[in-house]
Amino acid sequence: MRAENAASVVDGNALAGLLADVFAGDVTQYVGLCGGCGSSAPLAEAVVELDDVGAIVRCRYCRHTLATVLRSPEGVRFVVAALQAFTAPVGVSRAGA
Ligand SMILES: [Zn+2]
Repeated sequence: MRAENAASVVDGNALAGLLADVFAGDVTQYVGLCGGCGSSAPLAEAVVELDDVGAIVRCRYCRHTLATVLRSPEGVRFVVAALQAFTAPVGVSRAGA
């Protein structure tokens, strides 16, 4: 999608409803696309390395780091690495419910 093709251009507040649809469901059922090997799989199938401060989420097939989730006094940080797409399937996300 290119800006010149958009029906309207607004600020980020317009994302509230759309992102609520994305993150309101069971995210472990969401399908991630690995940029390392091109595999797609539900997040529940990823390999997760846990420690006291967070998690490293790795692709089950090629072991690239898809993302990291880190806890800190400021909050929880989700850092995208090789995760190229994150799809909330119909029926799993709030939008599909
Ligand atoms: Zn992979």
